[in-house]
Amino acid sequence: METKMSVRSALIVGGGFTGLTTSIALAQRGVEVTLVDKAPAWARVGHGLTIQGNALRVFKEIGVIDEVLAVGQAENAVTLYFADGRVMAEMPTPRTGGDDLPATIGALRPDLHEILVRKAESLGVEIRLGFELTSFENDGDTATSVLSDGTTESWDVIVVAEGIKSQTRPKLGITEDRRPSGLGIWRAVTSRLPEMTGGIAYPFDDQGAFKVGYTPVSDSQCYIFVLCPPQRPDNGLEGWQEVQRLMANYHGQFDYLRESIGPDTFLNFQEIEWIFVEGPWNRGRVVALGETVHAVPPLIAQGAAQCVEDALLFAEYVTADGDFDTQVAEFHARRIPRVKGVVDSTMLLAKWELDPGAPDADPGRVMGQALAALVPAP
Ligand SMILES: Cc1cc2nc3c(=O)[nH]c(=O)nc-3n(C[C@H](O)[C@H](O)[C@H](O)COP(=O)(O)OP(=O)(O)OC[C@H]3O[C@@H](n4cnc5c(N)ncnc54)[C@H](O)[C@@H]3O)c2cc1C
Repeated sequence: METKMSVRSALIVGGGFTGLTTSIALAQRGVEVTLVDKAPAWARVGHGLTIQGNALRVFKEIGVIDEVLAVGQAENAVTLYFADGRVMAEMPTPRTGGDDLPATIGALRPDLHEILVRKAESLGVEIRLGFELTSFENDGDTATSVLSDGTTESWDVIVVAEGIKSQTRPKLGITEDRRPSGLGIWRAVTSRLPEMTGGIAYPFDDQGAFKVGYTPVSDSQCYIFVLCPPQRPDNGLEGWQEVQRLMANYHGQFDYLRESIGPDTFLNFQEIEWIFVEGPWNRGRVVALGETVHAVPPLIAQGAAQCVEDALLFAEYVTADGDFDTQVAEFHARRIPRVKGVVDSTMLLAKWELDPGAPDADPGRVMGQALAALVPAP
Protein backbone atom coordinates (compact mmCIF):
# COMPACT_ATOMS: atom_id res chain seq x y z
CA MET A 1 0.00 0.00 0.00
CA GLU A 2 1.35 3.42 -0.89
CA THR A 3 2.08 5.64 2.10
CA LYS A 4 1.12 9.31 2.10
CA MET A 5 4.05 10.41 4.26
CA SER A 6 4.49 14.17 3.80
CA VAL A 7 8.27 14.00 4.29
CA ARG A 8 10.56 11.68 2.31
CA SER A 9 13.73 13.75 2.24
CA ALA A 10 15.18 16.05 4.90
CA LEU A 11 18.09 18.40 5.37
CA ILE A 12 19.09 18.71 9.02
CA VAL A 13 21.17 21.79 9.84
CA GLY A 14 23.25 21.20 12.97
CA GLY A 15 24.67 18.02 14.48
CA GLY A 16 24.07 18.50 18.21
CA PHE A 17 21.58 16.44 20.26
CA THR A 18 18.65 17.94 18.34
CA GLY A 19 19.95 17.48 14.80
CA LEU A 20 21.35 13.99 15.32
CA THR A 21 18.27 12.67 17.13
CA THR A 22 15.98 14.14 14.46
CA SER A 23 18.13 12.54 11.75
CA ILE A 24 18.03 9.13 13.42
CA ALA A 25 14.29 9.21 14.11
CA LEU A 26 13.48 10.32 10.54
CA ALA A 27 15.85 7.79 8.95
CA GLN A 28 14.27 5.02 11.05
CA ARG A 29 10.93 5.98 9.46
CA GLY A 30 12.19 5.72 5.89
CA VAL A 31 13.23 9.35 5.25
CA GLU A 32 16.39 10.10 3.21
CA VAL A 33 18.38 12.35 5.55
CA THR A 34 21.37 14.63 4.99
CA LEU A 35 22.90 16.41 7.97
CA VAL A 36 25.24 19.39 7.68
CA ASP A 37 27.26 21.01 10.45
CA LYS A 38 29.49 24.03 10.15
CA ALA A 39 32.10 22.40 12.40
CA PRO A 40 34.94 21.05 10.23
CA ALA A 41 35.27 18.01 12.53
CA TRP A 42 33.43 16.64 15.58
CA ALA A 43 34.93 17.72 18.91
CA ARG A 44 36.55 14.79 20.69
CA VAL A 45 36.77 16.51 24.08
CA GLY A 46 34.03 18.20 26.02
CA HIS A 47 32.09 18.69 29.19
CA GLY A 48 30.03 16.50 31.41
CA LEU A 49 26.25 16.57 31.30
CA THR A 50 23.45 15.33 33.50
CA ILE A 51 21.01 13.50 31.29
CA GLN A 52 17.53 13.09 32.76
CA GLY A 53 15.33 10.01 32.46
CA ASN A 54 13.02 11.57 29.86
CA ALA A 55 16.03 11.97 27.54
CA LEU A 56 16.95 8.34 28.26
CA ARG A 57 13.41 7.35 27.26
CA VAL A 58 14.03 8.94 23.83
CA PHE A 59 17.42 7.21 23.59
CA LYS A 60 15.64 3.93 24.31
CA GLU A 61 13.09 4.55 21.57
CA ILE A 62 15.76 5.33 18.97
CA GLY A 63 17.69 2.19 19.95
CA VAL A 64 20.84 3.56 21.62
CA ILE A 65 20.02 3.14 25.32
CA ASP A 66 22.48 0.28 25.98
CA GLU A 67 25.39 2.28 24.58
CA VAL A 68 24.28 5.41 26.47
CA LEU A 69 23.99 3.60 29.82
CA ALA A 70 27.39 2.00 29.21
CA VAL A 71 29.14 5.41 29.03
CA GLY A 72 27.18 6.98 31.91
CA GLN A 73 26.99 6.81 35.70
CA ALA A 74 23.41 6.27 36.84
CA GLU A 75 22.03 8.27 39.80
CA ASN A 76 18.60 8.20 41.40
CA ALA A 77 19.06 10.87 44.05
CA VAL A 78 21.01 14.03 44.67
CA THR A 79 22.72 14.96 47.94
CA LEU A 80 22.48 18.58 49.02
CA TYR A 81 25.29 19.96 51.17
CA PHE A 82 25.94 23.03 53.27
CA ALA A 83 29.10 24.82 52.15
CA ASP A 84 30.94 23.54 55.24
CA GLY A 85 30.51 19.99 53.95
CA ARG A 86 27.62 18.83 56.15
CA VAL A 87 24.79 16.96 54.43
CA MET A 88 21.62 19.06 54.22
CA ALA A 89 19.32 16.51 52.56
CA GLU A 90 19.15 13.53 50.24
CA MET A 91 16.58 14.18 47.53
CA PRO A 92 15.31 11.35 45.32
CA THR A 93 15.17 12.51 41.70
CA PRO A 94 11.89 11.79 39.88
CA ARG A 95 12.28 9.05 37.26
CA THR A 96 11.11 11.17 34.35
CA GLY A 97 11.73 8.35 31.88
CA GLY A 98 9.74 5.71 33.75
CA ASP A 99 10.69 3.14 36.39
CA ASP A 100 12.78 0.99 34.04
CA LEU A 101 15.33 3.77 33.49
CA PRO A 102 17.64 5.58 35.91
CA ALA A 103 16.46 9.01 37.08
CA THR A 104 19.62 10.55 35.60
CA ILE A 105 23.02 9.66 34.25
CA GLY A 106 26.22 11.70 34.26
CA ALA A 107 28.26 11.34 31.07
CA LEU A 108 30.76 13.17 28.91
CA ARG A 109 29.19 14.97 25.99
CA PRO A 110 31.60 13.62 23.33
CA ASP A 111 30.80 10.03 24.38
CA LEU A 112 27.06 10.61 23.90
CA HIS A 113 27.63 12.52 20.69
CA GLU A 114 29.71 9.72 19.23
CA ILE A 115 26.95 7.18 19.98
CA LEU A 116 24.42 9.34 18.09
CA VAL A 117 26.79 9.91 15.15
CA ARG A 118 27.45 6.16 14.85
CA LYS A 119 23.72 5.40 14.94
CA ALA A 120 22.94 8.04 12.30
CA GLU A 121 25.69 6.72 10.03
CA SER A 122 24.48 3.13 10.46
CA LEU A 123 21.04 4.25 9.21
CA GLY A 124 22.52 5.81 6.08
CA VAL A 125 22.32 9.47 7.15
CA GLU A 126 24.72 11.44 4.96
CA ILE A 127 26.82 13.69 7.20
CA ARG A 128 28.64 16.64 5.64
CA LEU A 129 30.97 18.53 7.98
CA GLY A 130 32.21 22.04 7.30
CA PHE A 131 28.94 23.09 5.58
CA GLU A 132 26.68 25.92 6.65
CA LEU A 133 23.13 26.75 5.66
CA THR A 134 23.44 30.13 3.93
CA SER A 135 19.83 30.70 2.88
CA PHE A 136 16.59 28.89 2.07
CA GLU A 137 13.43 29.34 0.09
CA ASN A 138 10.01 27.73 0.42
CA ASP A 139 8.57 26.34 -2.83
CA GLY A 140 5.16 24.97 -1.87
CA ASP A 141 5.61 21.32 -0.90
CA THR A 142 9.42 21.56 -0.76
CA ALA A 143 12.13 23.91 0.48
CA THR A 144 15.40 24.77 -1.24
CA SER A 145 18.67 25.16 0.65
CA VAL A 146 21.74 27.11 -0.39
CA LEU A 147 24.80 25.80 1.43
CA SER A 148 28.10 27.59 2.03
CA ASP A 149 29.70 25.84 -0.99
CA GLY A 150 27.03 27.47 -3.20
CA THR A 151 25.12 24.24 -3.94
CA THR A 152 21.32 24.39 -4.15
CA GLU A 153 19.15 21.40 -3.27
CA SER A 154 15.49 20.70 -2.71
CA TRP A 155 14.03 18.87 0.31
CA ASP A 156 10.62 17.98 1.75
CA VAL A 157 11.73 19.61 5.00
CA ILE A 158 14.70 21.59 6.32
CA VAL A 159 15.19 21.26 10.08
CA VAL A 160 17.10 24.11 11.71
CA ALA A 161 18.89 22.60 14.72
CA GLU A 162 21.58 25.28 14.98
CA GLY A 163 21.42 25.79 18.76
CA ILE A 164 20.86 28.99 20.73
CA LYS A 165 23.19 31.07 18.53
CA SER A 166 21.24 30.17 15.37
CA GLN A 167 21.75 32.57 12.46
CA THR A 168 18.77 31.17 10.57
CA ARG A 169 16.24 31.82 13.38
CA PRO A 170 15.42 35.46 12.37
CA LYS A 171 15.01 34.36 8.74
CA LEU A 172 12.09 32.20 9.93
CA GLY A 173 10.30 35.36 11.03
CA ILE A 174 11.10 34.63 14.69
CA THR A 175 11.68 37.92 16.49
CA GLU A 176 12.75 36.55 19.89
CA ASP A 177 16.51 36.53 20.46
CA ARG A 178 18.78 35.03 23.12
CA ARG A 179 19.00 37.04 26.33
CA PRO A 180 21.30 37.12 29.36
CA SER A 181 20.09 35.07 32.34
CA GLY A 182 22.17 37.00 34.89
CA LEU A 183 24.19 33.85 35.55
CA GLY A 184 27.61 32.61 34.55
CA ILE A 185 29.02 29.11 34.89
CA TRP A 186 32.39 27.41 35.08
CA ARG A 187 32.55 23.75 34.16
CA ALA A 188 35.50 21.44 34.72
CA VAL A 189 36.18 17.74 34.26
CA THR A 190 38.30 16.38 37.08
CA SER A 191 38.96 13.37 39.32
CA ARG A 192 36.85 12.07 42.20
CA LEU A 193 37.17 9.43 44.90
CA PRO A 194 34.95 6.30 44.69
CA GLU A 195 32.87 7.39 47.72
CA MET A 196 32.06 10.75 46.11
CA THR A 197 28.71 10.10 44.44
CA GLY A 198 27.66 13.60 43.43
CA GLY A 199 25.98 16.56 45.07
CA ILE A 200 25.22 20.25 45.17
CA ALA A 201 26.49 22.62 47.87
CA TYR A 202 24.94 25.92 48.95
CA PRO A 203 26.92 28.84 50.40
CA PHE A 204 26.49 30.63 53.75
CA ASP A 205 27.43 34.04 52.35
CA ASP A 206 27.51 36.00 49.09
CA GLN A 207 31.28 35.56 48.62
CA GLY A 208 32.38 33.22 45.84
CA ALA A 209 30.07 30.91 43.89
CA PHE A 210 26.24 30.95 44.05
CA LYS A 211 26.48 27.19 44.31
CA VAL A 212 28.79 24.36 43.36
CA GLY A 213 27.92 20.86 42.22
CA TYR A 214 29.53 17.76 40.82
CA THR A 215 28.32 14.67 38.98
CA PRO A 216 30.26 11.44 38.43
CA VAL A 217 30.87 10.62 34.77
CA SER A 218 33.02 7.50 35.31
CA ASP A 219 34.51 5.44 38.18
CA SER A 220 37.23 7.99 38.70
CA GLN A 221 36.02 11.21 37.04
CA CYS A 222 33.34 13.80 37.57
CA TYR A 223 32.35 17.12 36.16
CA ILE A 224 32.06 20.17 38.39
CA PHE A 225 29.86 23.18 37.81
CA VAL A 226 30.32 26.47 39.58
CA LEU A 227 27.44 28.92 39.23
CA CYS A 228 28.53 32.55 39.55
CA PRO A 229 27.99 36.09 38.22
CA PRO A 230 28.00 36.42 34.42
CA GLN A 231 31.14 38.56 34.12
CA ARG A 232 34.62 37.38 35.14
CA PRO A 233 36.19 39.78 37.62
CA ASP A 234 39.34 41.57 36.49
CA ASN A 235 41.55 39.85 39.07
CA GLY A 236 44.33 38.53 36.81
CA LEU A 237 43.68 34.89 37.79
CA GLU A 238 43.99 32.00 35.35
CA GLY A 239 40.76 30.05 34.80
CA TRP A 240 41.69 27.23 37.18
CA GLN A 241 42.72 29.71 39.87
CA GLU A 242 39.44 31.58 39.47
CA VAL A 243 37.50 28.32 39.94
CA GLN A 244 39.53 27.59 43.06
CA ARG A 245 38.79 31.11 44.33
CA LEU A 246 35.05 30.72 43.73
CA MET A 247 35.13 27.36 45.58
CA ALA A 248 37.30 28.57 48.47
CA ASN A 249 34.44 28.54 51.03
CA TYR A 250 33.17 25.09 50.03
CA HIS A 251 34.46 22.24 52.17
CA GLY A 252 34.11 18.51 52.81
CA GLN A 253 34.20 16.71 49.44
CA PHE A 254 34.55 20.08 47.76
CA ASP A 255 38.02 20.55 49.29
CA TYR A 256 39.17 17.49 47.36
CA LEU A 257 37.52 18.70 44.15
CA ARG A 258 38.98 22.19 44.46
CA GLU A 259 42.48 20.83 44.98
CA SER A 260 42.09 18.43 42.04
CA ILE A 261 41.79 21.43 39.69
CA GLY A 262 45.02 22.68 38.15
CA PRO A 263 46.52 24.30 35.06
CA ASP A 264 45.86 21.16 32.95
CA THR A 265 42.20 20.74 33.93
CA PHE A 266 39.70 20.88 31.04
CA LEU A 267 37.49 23.84 31.97
CA ASN A 268 35.65 26.79 30.55
CA PHE A 269 33.54 29.75 31.56
CA GLN A 270 30.44 31.05 29.86
CA GLU A 271 27.70 33.56 30.41
CA ILE A 272 24.39 31.68 30.35
CA GLU A 273 21.78 32.95 27.92
CA TRP A 274 18.20 31.84 27.38
CA ILE A 275 15.44 31.98 24.79
CA PHE A 276 11.86 30.80 24.48
CA VAL A 277 9.90 31.07 21.25
CA GLU A 278 6.22 30.53 21.93
CA GLY A 279 4.91 31.32 18.43
CA PRO A 280 5.33 29.08 15.37
CA TRP A 281 8.71 27.34 15.04
CA ASN A 282 8.46 27.08 11.25
CA ARG A 283 8.07 29.04 8.09
CA GLY A 284 6.55 26.66 5.56
CA ARG A 285 8.78 23.63 5.14
CA VAL A 286 11.64 25.05 7.26
CA VAL A 287 11.26 24.11 10.94
CA ALA A 288 13.37 25.08 13.96
CA LEU A 289 13.77 22.58 16.81
CA GLY A 290 15.75 22.29 20.06
CA GLU A 291 17.84 25.12 21.47
CA THR A 292 17.20 27.24 18.39
CA VAL A 293 13.76 27.87 19.94
CA HIS A 294 14.12 27.02 23.65
CA ALA A 295 17.18 27.18 25.90
CA VAL A 296 17.47 27.82 29.62
CA PRO A 297 20.17 27.76 32.33
CA PRO A 298 20.95 24.14 33.32
CA LEU A 299 19.26 24.40 36.75
CA ILE A 300 17.11 21.29 36.32
CA ALA A 301 19.30 19.75 33.57
CA GLN A 302 16.47 19.51 31.03
CA GLY A 303 18.26 21.11 28.06
CA ALA A 304 19.18 18.03 26.07
CA ALA A 305 16.04 16.19 27.19
CA GLN A 306 13.73 18.83 25.74
CA CYS A 307 15.78 18.84 22.53
CA VAL A 308 15.57 15.09 21.97
CA GLU A 309 11.87 15.02 22.87
CA ASP A 310 11.29 17.63 20.13
CA ALA A 311 13.28 15.52 17.70
CA LEU A 312 11.47 12.21 18.20
CA LEU A 313 7.99 13.68 18.32
CA PHE A 314 8.62 15.80 15.22
CA ALA A 315 9.76 12.72 13.29
CA GLU A 316 6.66 10.82 14.42
CA TYR A 317 4.31 13.59 13.28
CA VAL A 318 5.76 14.30 9.83
CA THR A 319 6.11 10.65 8.89
CA ALA A 320 2.47 9.83 9.66
CA ASP A 321 -0.15 10.04 6.91
CA GLY A 322 -1.44 13.57 6.56
CA ASP A 323 -0.91 17.17 5.62
CA PHE A 324 2.46 18.73 6.56
CA ASP A 325 1.14 22.11 7.78
CA THR A 326 -1.40 20.44 10.05
CA GLN A 327 1.21 18.00 11.38
CA VAL A 328 3.65 20.79 12.24
CA ALA A 329 0.92 22.90 13.86
CA GLU A 330 -0.20 19.91 15.97
CA PHE A 331 3.40 19.06 16.90
CA HIS A 332 4.03 22.65 17.99
CA ALA A 333 0.79 22.84 20.01
CA ARG A 334 1.73 19.61 21.79
CA ARG A 335 5.30 20.72 22.61
CA ILE A 336 4.62 24.24 23.85
CA PRO A 337 3.03 23.50 27.27
CA ARG A 338 5.74 21.00 28.19
CA VAL A 339 8.64 23.19 27.07
CA LYS A 340 7.06 26.26 28.66
CA GLY A 341 6.77 24.41 31.98
CA VAL A 342 10.52 23.76 31.91
CA VAL A 343 11.31 27.34 30.86
CA ASP A 344 9.06 28.98 33.47
CA SER A 345 10.28 26.88 36.38
CA THR A 346 13.93 27.22 35.34
CA MET A 347 13.73 30.99 34.98
CA LEU A 348 12.08 31.21 38.41
CA LEU A 349 14.97 29.17 39.82
CA ALA A 350 17.42 31.50 38.03
CA LYS A 351 15.73 34.50 39.66
CA TRP A 352 16.11 32.90 43.10
CA GLU A 353 19.79 32.09 42.39
CA LEU A 354 20.29 35.84 42.04
CA ASP A 355 18.08 36.69 45.02
CA PRO A 356 18.22 33.71 47.41
CA GLY A 357 16.66 35.76 50.22
CA ALA A 358 13.45 36.40 48.25
CA PRO A 359 10.52 35.71 50.63
CA ASP A 360 8.88 33.28 48.19
CA ALA A 361 12.11 31.42 47.31
CA ASP A 362 11.49 27.66 47.44
CA PRO A 363 13.80 26.05 44.89
CA GLY A 364 13.45 22.47 46.17
CA ARG A 365 9.67 22.53 45.66
CA VAL A 366 9.84 24.13 42.21
CA MET A 367 12.56 21.75 41.03
CA GLY A 368 10.66 18.70 42.29
CA GLN A 369 7.38 19.83 40.74
CA ALA A 370 9.01 20.71 37.41
CA LEU A 371 10.57 17.26 37.09
CA ALA A 372 7.48 15.41 38.36
CA ALA A 373 5.44 17.13 35.62
CA LEU A 374 7.69 15.46 33.03
CA VAL A 375 7.09 11.88 34.18
CA PRO A 376 4.13 11.33 31.82
CA ALA A 377 5.51 10.81 28.29
CA PRO A 378 5.43 13.97 26.12
C1 LIG B 1 26.71 25.55 30.76
C2 LIG B 1 25.70 24.57 30.23
C3 LIG B 1 25.47 23.39 30.91
C4 LIG B 1 24.51 22.49 30.43
N1 LIG B 1 24.28 21.33 31.11
C5 LIG B 1 23.31 20.49 30.68
C6 LIG B 1 23.05 19.29 31.38
O1 LIG B 1 23.69 18.98 32.39
N2 LIG B 1 22.07 18.48 30.90
C7 LIG B 1 21.34 18.80 29.78
O2 LIG B 1 20.45 18.02 29.39
N3 LIG B 1 21.58 19.91 29.10
C8 LIG B 1 22.55 20.76 29.52
N4 LIG B 1 22.80 21.89 28.82
C9 LIG B 1 22.01 22.17 27.60
C10 LIG B 1 22.42 21.29 26.42
O3 LIG B 1 23.81 21.36 26.25
C11 LIG B 1 21.68 21.78 25.19
O4 LIG B 1 20.29 21.75 25.46
C12 LIG B 1 21.92 20.98 23.94
O5 LIG B 1 23.28 20.69 23.77
C13 LIG B 1 21.40 21.74 22.75
O6 LIG B 1 21.46 20.92 21.61
P1 LIG B 1 21.17 21.48 20.14
O7 LIG B 1 21.45 20.34 19.24
O8 LIG B 1 19.82 22.13 20.08
O9 LIG B 1 22.23 22.65 19.92
P2 LIG B 1 23.86 22.60 19.88
O10 LIG B 1 24.38 21.54 20.78
O11 LIG B 1 24.25 24.00 20.12
O12 LIG B 1 24.17 22.17 18.39
C14 LIG B 1 24.02 23.04 17.30
C15 LIG B 1 24.91 22.56 16.18
O13 LIG B 1 24.59 23.31 14.99
C16 LIG B 1 25.76 23.69 14.32
N5 LIG B 1 25.40 24.89 13.53
C17 LIG B 1 25.04 26.10 13.99
N6 LIG B 1 24.71 26.92 12.97
C18 LIG B 1 24.87 26.22 11.83
C19 LIG B 1 24.67 26.51 10.45
N7 LIG B 1 24.19 27.69 10.01
N8 LIG B 1 24.95 25.56 9.52
C20 LIG B 1 25.41 24.34 9.94
N9 LIG B 1 25.61 24.01 11.23
C21 LIG B 1 25.32 24.93 12.16
C22 LIG B 1 26.78 23.89 15.44
O14 LIG B 1 28.11 23.74 14.95
C23 LIG B 1 26.39 22.77 16.42
O15 LIG B 1 27.08 21.57 16.18
C24 LIG B 1 23.77 22.80 29.25
C25 LIG B 1 24.01 23.98 28.56
C26 LIG B 1 24.96 24.87 29.05
C27 LIG B 1 25.22 26.16 28.29
